[in-house]
Amino acid sequence: MPHCVVPAAEEILDREFPVLNKGFIRLVDYLGGDERIVQAARVSYGEGTKSYREDSSLIDHLLRNGHTSPFEQVILTFHVKLPIFVARQWIRHRTARVNEISGRYSVMKDDFYVPAPADIALQSADNKQGRAQGTVAEELASSIIVRMEKGQRAAYEEYTDLVGSGLARELARIDLPLSLYTEWYWQIDLHNLFGFLQLRLDPHAQLEIREYARILLEIARRVSPAATGSFENHVLGGARFSAEEMAELRRRLSGEGTSRLEGKNLDRFEEKLRTGRQS
Ligand SMILES: Cc1cc2nc3c(=O)[nH]c(=O)nc-3n(C[C@H](O)[C@H](O)[C@H](O)COP(=O)(O)OP(=O)(O)OC[C@H]3O[C@@H](n4cnc5c(N)ncnc54)[C@H](O)[C@@H]3O)c2cc1C
Repeated sequence: MPHCVVPAAEEILDREFPVLNKGFIRLVDYLGGDERIVQAARVSYGEGTKSYREDSSLIDHLLRNGHTSPFEQVILTFHVKLPIFVARQWIRHRTARVNEISGRYSVMKDDFYVPAPADIALQSADNKQGRAQGTVAEELASSIIVRMEKGQRAAYEEYTDLVGSGLARELARIDLPLSLYTEWYWQIDLHNLFGFLQLRLDPHAQLEIREYARILLEIARRVSPAATGSFENHVLGGARFSAEEMAELRRRLSGEGTSRLEGKNLDRFEEKLRTGRQS
């Protein structure tokens, strides 16, 4: 089988897509694309690719039915610059290969994440793991940013002082804050990238990692447009219903007026119908 060259992916190889105030994502390399998924799926029949329409419909069938192995044949390698607190969430996705810059070997750069004023919000009252809807007053946002920058400056000055005094870099770095940027090469297959995106594009994920996920989705679309389209349709835009919820749906579709779901279960169901999302 020939090496897959995807012109839309070639176009963006090595291009930096900015994320947050100082981060970026770069597609370093890719292996395969929609064509490779089709080749892998058809290997058992000894058949190659067919028309674009037939190939897309095969990809859609595979994704819809959870035939995931052919998607693992597509590999993407990214260079990512991201704040350490985002990296800590990101690294929990174990099905990837990572090589990160070493703070023992190199002097860390003076690059810190500071939220944009519009992203500064108070603690949510109903979601213990998130921020409240809506922004804070401009003055308050500016004063928070000033305080964050002051802390970052002080920590970095201390760090450079300690490095300058001859302290080992691996020790000098330990008081640097989570807002410091790190960099890594991150390699993942398309199936597991979709898993990452499903979790990290969701509004429950922290806004900062969602910003990265948005760019990764666009890059995946360049490499494998048909697979990414099917993923958006069946996974991102779809919803999973429990047996109870399916029964409720059937009752509603048959015109039966009374709901058997109650309280939080009913609220969750209604929200899922409205937004397609689990709460
Ligand atoms: C909104 C949100 C909030 C979160 N909050 C927290 C939190 O408060 N605390 C916390 O600790 N984590 C938290 N997480 C992280 C979360 O629990 C997962 O660890 C993370 O999302 C990675 O998901 P994953 O295991 O599906 O991914 P991956 O590690 O990429 O795994 C993908 C699939 O492979 C399987 N797999 C991977 N490695 C193995 C293995 N060694 N053996 C068997 N199967 C394997 C997984 O079960 C999964 O099905 C949060 C995640 C999200 C999205």
